Amino acid sequence: MNHRIPEELIEFIKESPTAFHAVSAMAARLTESGFIRLEEGMHWNLKQGGSYYVTRNDSSLIAFTIPEHPFQGMRIMASHSDSPSFKIKENPEMESEGHYIRLNVERYGGMLFAPWFDRPLSVAGRVIVKDPSTDGKPSACFLSKLVNIDRDLLMIPNLAIHMDRDANNGHKYNAQKDMLPLYGDLTAKNTFFQTIAEAANVTEDEILGHDLFLYNRQEPCIWGASREFLSAPRLDDLQCAFASLKGFLSGAKEDYLALHCVFDNEEVGSGTKQGAASTFLKDTLTRIHRNLGYNEEDFLVHLANSLMVSADNAHAVHPNHTDMADPTNRPYLNNGIVIKFNANQKYCTDAVSAAMFRDICNQADVPVQTFTNRSDIAGGSTLGNISNTQVALNTVDIGLPQLAMHSPYETAGVKDTEYLVQAAQEFFN
Ligand code: ZN
Repeated sequence: MNHRIPEELIEFIKESPTAFHAVSAMAARLTESGFIRLEEGMHWNLKQGGSYYVTRNDSSLIAFTIPEHPFQGMRIMASHSDSPSFKIKENPEMESEGHYIRLNVERYGGMLFAPWFDRPLSVAGRVIVKDPSTDGKPSACFLSKLVNIDRDLLMIPNLAIHMDRDANNGHKYNAQKDMLPLYGDLTAKNTFFQTIAEAANVTEDEILGHDLFLYNRQEPCIWGASREFLSAPRLDDLQCAFASLKGFLSGAKEDYLALHCVFDNEEVGSGTKQGAASTFLKDTLTRIHRNLGYNEEDFLVHLANSLMVSADNAHAVHPNHTDMADPTNRPYLNNGIVIKFNANQKYCTDAVSAAMFRDICNQADVPVQTFTNRSDIAGGSTLGNISNTQVALNTVDIGLPQLAMHSPYETAGVKDTEYLVQAAQEFFN
């Protein structure tokens, strides 16, 4: 096992408290590897053999490498940059009892509420300010500034057992009442956006817009009797995004147009301008084809000769709830990449795409496992089938096995990231 990979994953997760930071962390690695940044709002001048990346909304990213010679199809690996959290509302400060300042937040995605209590939290995201160099011009430009209050800032305290004797018999949480974080005593009044402005290196009145989220401050760790487990915030889906990027960078990318895609907003249904349901991938593929002189017919031929791997984490069998898993498809931590199946096509794996992916894993000497929901459990969905409504191609849904999905602190196997790195590298070879 390559011991660097779990450590590198931990570094990547620590750099990525929000989707904006994850995209920025990936962009830095791509730039370091010689990729050229493109802007959607400018004309592209692409060359065979070139490597490029483009972002949308600062929270989704597509990186691609064009082969030296004319190509016949594409190899696409897609994952997502966002994780369930709580978003800071407008006018967030709430004074109560003349003693406390809390922050008004709303849920983003479908998280487990309980593990957000009694742990240090902080705030990260982006703020938008006017570009001072365009002051006085008819159309001002705006700058997006990343923000991370890199210290223990907030807590959502539990109600004591003495005031809620039924707390251990199942609890219903109210997002507006129970989940508001405590920010300070009365001296904290009117300081929240000062704190944000300082971290962004701007003044408070320069901030014209914000997308700010809570995040768990607990550091990732490797643990267990033989250090076989890795726990961290946001493993779903930064573990797949990281492995996809690493395999993409190390793959040869010689015969196919190779794309590493990471979409925002998977946790809220993908239906945004930068989500998997948007035209981001289709627009990018269209522009690449036009730029290189391919016509519409070529594009459709290429699509038919392509494979997409939709990589989003999967549920491992839970040690205390073994009955919740399907009787014959039982993924375990450290046992390899999980191929996901669903008869009703919430996962778009079929016999063809499963065979293609199994073959890739065989070539890479990587173990695979299979997941389906129990037939009496609805389960979740992911990127693959949503992306296929815009760009339809052979797609396989896969993921790495994990426990406690959508908790702010999730658990995976220490070996599995490397398996996906190896499979991704083989996929891009
Ligand atoms: Zn996911």
